Amino acid sequence: MGLKIDLDLCTGCGACVAVCPFCALAQRADGKVEVNEACTACGACLDSCPVGALSLETESKPLAMGALDGYRGLWVFAEQRGGKIHEVSFELLGVGRVLADRLGVELCAVLLGHQAGDCAGPLFEHGADKVYQVDHPALENYTAEPYAEALSALIRKYKPEVVLAGATSLGRGFIPRVAVQVNAGLTADCTELDVEADSRLLIQTRPAFGGNIMACIVCPDHRPQMATVRPKVFKPAEPVAGRTGTRVVENLPLKEPGVKVLETVNAMQNEVNVAGAEFIVTGGRGLGAPENFKLMAELADALGGAAVGASRAAVDAGWISSFHQVGQTGKTVRPKIYIACGVSGQIQHLVGMNSSDTIIAINKDPDAPIFGVADVGIVGDLFQVVPELIKALRG
Ligand SMILES: Cc1cc2nc3c(=O)[nH]c(=O)nc-3n(C[C@H](O)[C@H](O)[C@H](O)COP(=O)(O)OP(=O)(O)OC[C@H]3O[C@@H](n4cnc5c(N)ncnc54)[C@H](O)[C@@H]3O)c2cc1C
Repeated sequence: MGLKIDLDLCTGCGACVAVCPFCALAQRADGKVEVNEACTACGACLDSCPVGALSLETESKPLAMGALDGYRGLWVFAEQRGGKIHEVSFELLGVGRVLADRLGVELCAVLLGHQAGDCAGPLFEHGADKVYQVDHPALENYTAEPYAEALSALIRKYKPEVVLAGATSLGRGFIPRVAVQVNAGLTADCTELDVEADSRLLIQTRPAFGGNIMACIVCPDHRPQMATVRPKVFKPAEPVAGRTGTRVVENLPLKEPGVKVLETVNAMQNEVNVAGAEFIVTGGRGLGAPENFKLMAELADALGGAAVGASRAAVDAGWISSFHQVGQTGKTVRPKIYIACGVSGQIQHLVGMNSSDTIIAINKDPDAPIFGVADVGIVGDLFQVVPELIKALRG
């Protein structure tokens, strides 16, 4: 999809230039309008043209096969805040290393920020062969526009064949813009990634139709192949102390962001980070009432400070905040021990926790699907079993 300008019709009135939110239209010396690569084909300009000279080409043009060959390398967007790399970046470097080796290409990381310190070191230690680094004041606080502008510019210049990013709030915020700007597809929230070495296709697996099927998605006609992956889906790469690589520093002339960040507030500071917890005790609808989450908190405490998780049914009932939700529309977790109490184990819950090291399920229904993924299953009333567990743990 792209913007088409009929220059025979264009009168050079400039009305479209004034309404473009991306500064993608400019008047040439003869007054007629031309479009630049900042165009996102949003269509905001279409109605502004009094003579109907603007239209959107709805058929996206696949790249010619030869054009695909110019794309090489596997990139991981390395998310950092305040100079600290987000764990999901190390997880993507882990899976990225395997895929890059299979494709016989370099594994590269992209680092955006401003005076964020030496973040490249940990990326090399976790497997990156090369780090592309952009340091610019517009990237000091995260906002979607300059982040997208910077990553899109790097992609256009270096042409990677695969770009992976974390499905964090930051990644979800700007990676779709990048995909539009470089005319690529994007598969969000992948749960598995693989490559076909012959066709060089990235096989992107994610739940579809409410989690009832796992869809394998490929992008044969466009590059790069872009995917986001939630935190904790993959294991982080093992760091190798002292490992180094090539650092490429890019100076990009980024625009002033349209959004100004006045203050950053950590809304999660008083919330338990379920996604990062090593031990999780999750309550489902079987708890019966919001006050019974106290029992989950007690069990979590007896385990030495486990996090409390919840099924969507419990969250939807208003028994606990959505920060605690585990599953397809909640957090993906990978704790050492996951204890599910009164959770039936519907697929949308399982996709968020079935990579846990050890799963313990307590449910009074012996046929509950949660027992299909449990390492230890206790068939019984949670109001009898959990107090016994707490007693045993407290000795
Ligand atoms: C698009 C989509 C996205 C979704 N995303 C998510 C998601 O992210 N996370 C999520 O969890 N769900 C999600 N769901 C909802 C999911 O399909 C289920 O409805 C939900 O997981 C059910 O929650 P539950 O297991 O707590 O409740 P139920 O399915 O009602 O199960 C309650 C269980 O408690 C047991 N029980 C009852 N009393 C006791 C007792 N005293 N002792 C022991 N066991 C007891 C019952 O036997 C039963 O198995 C999603 C659904 C859709 C369509």
